[in-house]
Amino acid sequence: MNIHEYQGKEILKQYGVSVPEGQVAFTVEEAVQAAQELGSAVSVVKAQIHAGGRGKAGGVKIAKNLDEVRTYAEEILGKVLVTHQTGPEGKEVKRLLIEQGCDIRKEYYIGLVVDRSTGRVVMMASEEGGTEIEEVAEKTPEKIFKEIIDPAVGLQAFQARKLAYAIHIPTELVNKAVKFMISLYTAFVEKDCSIAEINPLVVTGDGNVMALDAKLNFDSNALYRHSDVQALRDLDEEDEKEIEASKFDLSYIALDGNIGCMVNGAGLAMATMDIIKHYGGEPANFLDVGGGATTEKVTEAFKIILSDEKVKGIFVNIFGGIMRCDVIAEGVVAAAKQIGLDRPLVVRLEGTNVELGKKLLNESGLNIVAADSMADGAQKIVSLVK
Ligand code: ADP
Ligand code: MG
Repeated sequence: MNIHEYQGKEILKQYGVSVPEGQVAFTVEEAVQAAQELGSAVSVVKAQIHAGGRGKAGGVKIAKNLDEVRTYAEEILGKVLVTHQTGPEGKEVKRLLIEQGCDIRKEYYIGLVVDRSTGRVVMMASEEGGTEIEEVAEKTPEKIFKEIIDPAVGLQAFQARKLAYAIHIPTELVNKAVKFMISLYTAFVEKDCSIAEINPLVVTGDGNVMALDAKLNFDSNALYRHSDVQALRDLDEEDEKEIEASKFDLSYIALDGNIGCMVNGAGLAMATMDIIKHYGGEPANFLDVGGGATTEKVTEAFKIILSDEKVKGIFVNIFGGIMRCDVIAEGVVAAAKQIGLDRPLVVRLEGTNVELGKKLLNESGLNIVAADSMADGAQKIVSLVK
């Protein structure tokens, strides 16, 4: 789960990570009032959306007085921001963060992720702050430094110091940077984050080390033990179909293509997306209905796929191991009858109760194209949507 920058900063503050003073605003009036209360010489008006790259897209503005705060708040609120992380459709700005303007001496990058190859949390640091870290990783990977953290003892001061020196934090501020990194790590672990990215971390003119931006992602499997974090969920920022899917405990991720996929098992779902691409098609979603899905669950899954207007055809690819083919067939038929199936449907069934499943589909009166194999099915659906 993702949260807004201002929410991330509030959490980090509780752990002693230094952040600028700031306040969220939902209206222009609130924005002006927030700036007035902050009382800083310069304030920053920042669009709050679940995506980075706002600065370049005009979503971060420096205001020198209250009139400018008003002008920028009017300009940004309600605007659809298109950044390299939003996709071409962009995201509408519904909240602003009004923050103290900071006298930036230099920008750095600090990130924490779970590294799957070592199975540990890794802290990354770079002198190239403020820019896209993906670009740094590609063009000048030697400018990113990493420390692998032993979970038994946590981030050690010597590791943090090594990073601070590697990225050339001014010597007199290394201790502050070390404290910053350790607090960030503590927040990451205690809140069960999957990503914590501070880009930029800044050193200020008056000798502070601060997080000017904060991106926190949380492991959804651990959310049950963080009701405070759950309360920060902003459904406006999420895909409606994904919200619907999460209610039924389906693993669904919306994508940009036009072939809806219903598959069981994450591995098969990935393979199905690959094979569709291999034959020149584009998947509209990733969907794993899981092992023991019921007819209701399959019906909901099928409805979610059909509700996507981009979907021009559907490929059902099921290997019935734990999942029974007849349950899938029942779900497909029930959903198609409830909302009408107006698009081509290719079905490949294999495994437990496959004959019964095929029989149900054949007798349903639905217009279904049967496939003998995954490759056959992928080719058929790709040509049908063209
Ligand atoms: P994004 O990563 O989405 O572009 P950031 O929060 O990183 O948004 O802001 C972009 C840039 O704006 C920062 O790199 C920094 O230079 C500037 N900035 C952001 N917040 C402040 C602030 N409080 N004071 C001064 N400059 C800021
Ligand atoms: Mg940033």
